[in-house]
Amino acid sequence: MQTRKTLRVYFNMKTKLILLTLLFTNFTLAQSLERRLEVVTRTESNKPRVEEVVLTDLISAESFDGEYFKIVKGKSDEAIRFDDPEELSFRAATAYYHLTKARTYFIQKVKSDYVATLPKMVIRIEHTNQFSELGHFAHDNLGPQFNNALTVPAGKGLASKGVKPWGMEIWFRPMKRVHLRDLKTNNLGNQEFQVLMSRFRNQIHMQSLQRFITQLVIAVTAEASGDILTTDALVRTVGASLIMEAGYQFYEPISKLFSRKWYWLDSALVPEIIYHEYAHAALSDQLVLSHSTATIEGMADFFAGQIANSPKLAKKIKKYNTFNGKDATKKQDYMLQFEATEYANTDFVFGMLWEIKNILGQEQGEVFMYELRKKITTNASIRGQLIEGILTTCDEVCETPFVDKLRILKALNLRGI
Ligand SMILES: [Zn+2]
Repeated sequence: MQTRKTLRVYFNMKTKLILLTLLFTNFTLAQSLERRLEVVTRTESNKPRVEEVVLTDLISAESFDGEYFKIVKGKSDEAIRFDDPEELSFRAATAYYHLTKARTYFIQKVKSDYVATLPKMVIRIEHTNQFSELGHFAHDNLGPQFNNALTVPAGKGLASKGVKPWGMEIWFRPMKRVHLRDLKTNNLGNQEFQVLMSRFRNQIHMQSLQRFITQLVIAVTAEASGDILTTDALVRTVGASLIMEAGYQFYEPISKLFSRKWYWLDSALVPEIIYHEYAHAALSDQLVLSHSTATIEGMADFFAGQIANSPKLAKKIKKYNTFNGKDATKKQDYMLQFEATEYANTDFVFGMLWEIKNILGQEQGEVFMYELRKKITTNASIRGQLIEGILTTCDEVCETPFVDKLRILKALNLRGI
């Protein structure tokens, strides 16, 4: 009896031990990996620097394949390897690091269930193809893209043409240096680089550099012929693009190149661009990724600014935004033209949302903006659905809705809304 009992206890213990071992093994296998690598980060004064950081949630010991992001080159399905050439691995590491930071922000700060349950995303760097809703990638020869970034919606694929379904993806274009002299747009090459940079902001997200330059040529010609609207649009964009200007520091970490004579944008190495694109993904349950509008770009910029969490950047936004910046070249009252796609990247809406956050206070303001997405759509007009959405959201989220709405309305009225 005693022996049988001892045996049973022994047997139970052994079973438990085996189970525990199995459990532990599985746990070890499922545990995500970490890796220390150099990436581009920001200093306290928001300057770029190369810093060693820890990449988390990796599921591969050799490549940039994680639980939430897989970084690939161009059209490839294979994750970029840690030992790939620096120009690839450094960009992959920087994108991976800041995407992880942006994802954590949405889950921890604004408690986004949508982001927490988003399927793993494929991130393409050095990818030049245009986006095709049916074919995923447009033909290689069709206007290759440089110096920008793009978030694309998921697609069903096209079985008959061998196009597999794909999930939501972020694409970072390769950088291409353009000498300012070669822009040949009515003396533009001699202008302050900052002016050009501000104007260039319009092409981020949905436009190519080529289209941007073509538009500049048209705009500059129109300016000369006295077309008031176009001239005004150009003046206004000088104050815009605050996020971009803050992100662009005339520094290329790989070649260590500083230059005012050349234009390029290495989008996978600019934290604020990475945050902006991820914000599009995080808002995409309500703001569909079809085209650029003032609303969708303003919302993405707002969260890019929050994730960057830089006092220096916040100061700049406060000072220079065209909505109410004290030192903006030209403060701009609301104009009907802001609703048009061409003006989607001007910072009027960004400045407006930033100001509302300041009225409500940091913590309440952030939650407010994320809730706001439920009350608006990509096509929301500023004066119509966006303002209505802001007021309805305040009814639900603000601590003192009556007082807060009055304060918000007062700020809006000052800008002609
Ligand atoms: Zn965008």
